[in-house]
Amino acid sequence: MTRVNSNFLELGTNYLFVDIARKVAEFKKANPGQKVISLGIGDVTQPLAPTVIKALHAAVDEMGEAESFRGYGPEQGYDFLREAICEHDYKKRGLAIAADDIFISDGAKSDLGNFQELFAADSIVAVTDPVYPVYVDSNAMAGRAGKLSGVTWDRIVYLPCTRDNGFVPDLPKTRPDLIYLCYPNNPTGTVLPKDALKVWVDYARREGCLLLYDSAYEAYITEADVAHSIYEIEGAKEVAVEFRSFSKTAGFTGLRCAYTVVPSELSLADGSGGRVQLKSLWNRRQCTKYNGCPYIVQRAAESIFSASGQREIAKTIAIYHDNARELSQAMQAMGLDVFGGVNAPYIWVSVPKGMDSWGFFHHLLHKAALVCTPGVGFGQSGEGYVRLTAFGSPDNTREAISRMQKL
Ligand code: PLP
Repeated sequence: MTRVNSNFLELGTNYLFVDIARKVAEFKKANPGQKVISLGIGDVTQPLAPTVIKALHAAVDEMGEAESFRGYGPEQGYDFLREAICEHDYKKRGLAIAADDIFISDGAKSDLGNFQELFAADSIVAVTDPVYPVYVDSNAMAGRAGKLSGVTWDRIVYLPCTRDNGFVPDLPKTRPDLIYLCYPNNPTGTVLPKDALKVWVDYARREGCLLLYDSAYEAYITEADVAHSIYEIEGAKEVAVEFRSFSKTAGFTGLRCAYTVVPSELSLADGSGGRVQLKSLWNRRQCTKYNGCPYIVQRAAESIFSASGQREIAKTIAIYHDNARELSQAMQAMGLDVFGGVNAPYIWVSVPKGMDSWGFFHHLLHKAALVCTPGVGFGQSGEGYVRLTAFGSPDNTREAISRMQKL
């Protein structure tokens, strides 16, 4: 009989958001008249910018003409987009990243999930706790996580981020091979100031570790001492891969476009005493398993770098920032401890005394028809918190606040 990959059997049966969706569906079935407002899943609600729509229409028209039709594109992405990213996201910030080191894709989730394929099967993986589940689950599927007990895997090195350490993880006691960092952070909405990020880059250089740096929420940074790219830190090109996405920057969650930077300078041990360039492995992997992000989507992504594109996406991000501020202020006024929300669309809220995070989730759902995400779903250190997102419409966010105030 054909056998499945038994690593999949070690995973919990439900992905966190599937679990939440099921509970919400049950509630809706039992309470058909109630309008449920979600402050849970991290999807955007505002439409695409007019400049993006214009670029999409133009690209669609090109596809309808024999002279401008495009079939398979380069697996790494079109040069026009790689160069626009290079210029806008790096050169303008004084960073020299070659367009050739940028790989366009259909999403940071797939890149983050796929990237672990490049590493030895017995690599030790470290993640911050709480954590965006994709880093852990994709390594569990590859057999690197060990056994799951409760919400903890026995081969994963967890780096707790708690109010006690100001959500700045301590360096691990034993050296991991791979370290996933996500800043601005999902789920806590907190950041690492530049000097704290430098500690991690220095550690990775000293210990020979690789940093997998997810900055999907870079566009939400408002404070000056927070790096927009890990490559702002000296030496990071030798030890860090950076993952970025157009999803939260420009509302591309349904359109799908992201990119991963694998600097040419980055090389790892080949297992036979030599070194191998990581970029060449990622290129090999992508060319084998991926046929590129659609042309029309890449044209849409390029358009956000125009003056009108920049103006329009800034307006949308300002809407989400306003939601985050109002949510934070309201929760604080209710006597709850609130973190994040300043450089991120996420707010990390301590649950009322006597409840745990699933308890507070059920309380908000059943008493106010509101959906949040229980912190423990992101890891053991998330117990006692819930995550609220600022991605709702302003009207829904205000209604959610007013319902909570009445509770
Ligand atoms: N990384 C983090 C931390 C995220 O929160 C998300 C989406 O929620 C992603 C990556 C995925 O982004 P994409 O839509 O580009 O797949």
